[in-house]
Amino acid sequence: KRLGIALVGLGGYSSGQLAPALQKTSNCYLAGIVTGTPSKAVEWSKKYNIPQKNIYNYQNFDDIAKNPDIDIVYIVLPVFMHKEYTIRAAQAGKHVICEKPMALNAAECREMIAACKKANRLLSIGYRLHFEPHTQEVMRLGQKQILGKVTQLETANGFTYNGDPNAWRIKKALAGGGGLMDMGIYAIQGARYTLGQEPIAVKATQEKTRPELFKDVDETVFWELKFPGGQKVTGKSSYNHDWGYLRAKTEKGSFELEPAYGYGGLDGKINGKPMQIPNNAQQAAQMDDFATCVNLKKQSRVPGEEGLKDMKVVDAIYRSLNSGRWESI
Ligand code: NAD
Repeated sequence: KRLGIALVGLGGYSSGQLAPALQKTSNCYLAGIVTGTPSKAVEWSKKYNIPQKNIYNYQNFDDIAKNPDIDIVYIVLPVFMHKEYTIRAAQAGKHVICEKPMALNAAECREMIAACKKANRLLSIGYRLHFEPHTQEVMRLGQKQILGKVTQLETANGFTYNGDPNAWRIKKALAGGGGLMDMGIYAIQGARYTLGQEPIAVKATQEKTRPELFKDVDETVFWELKFPGGQKVTGKSSYNHDWGYLRAKTEKGSFELEPAYGYGGLDGKINGKPMQIPNNAQQAAQMDDFATCVNLKKQSRVPGEEGLKDMKVVDAIYRSLNSGRWESI
């Protein structure tokens, strides 16, 4: 069955990426929307041919339970709303995709996982790179030790934030943090999927050059992760630098991606030579895969637990920034 997806929150990512991607999917389609802005309801209804009965707002959201057109609810809201809407969607009987970062902290992630399990609904996190071919190649090279074991790994993600000084993204209560939550999560993921291991401890430091803008959240964060294999793994995130790479040295060579985390096309090298792998439509592949999982009643390769693993690292990085010491994860 071709499954109906409802997007919750029609901001930049929904309108720029997910709705267009849902025009390319084969196992699912854009069936409904949830928005607090009546003018967006009118605009989207026309543009994507969405019937009035599949349009909700934040007041009548729970009525979605009665709508058989909607199988999957995709939460594309500011981070502080992820937990509430994931749980409400699952309780309304819908399977859920929730955007990254999964929630404000690991404790919230655990509540979300438990609620979806209790409602017997599948939960997935919007980790589109697991469906992206360069990333899949890096997973293969690193995890299968194709060039020998990875001995050194450096991952970095960031952009220069010049947006609205009042945006939810730079308010701790609404975003959970700054560059680390928004961009660093990819660099943490990158280390985890390259090595195929879970980090056990972290030590972090930070730098702030625009304290007036980032008064509430982290700007640039540097960290070192301790993995059971003893590899040297460093990472960094920023709202003040344009970074986006993953660089691995192995016993017998090297591999790298740059850009490593975006959706405008990835590129990479193996032992200094171009990977020559074509790019795909990441979000379409991601949503099609989740629809297949729902049809087969099978856990996604990026379930809530995957979001939780990253948030445990993020929480430990914030603890380390406070304590100045190594923190266990
Ligand atoms: P955005 O600010 O552009 O959109 C957020 C939407 O939520 C807006 O339409 C806003 O009106 C709505 N909203 C509803 N209630 C709100 C409230 N109380 N306060 C503020 N906004 C409210 O943000 P975005 O860039 O679309 O990000 C949304 C989510 O998607 C975030 O979790 C973000 O990290 C994630 N995201 C993921 C990717 C990716 O590549 N996977 C890319 C961009 C964003």
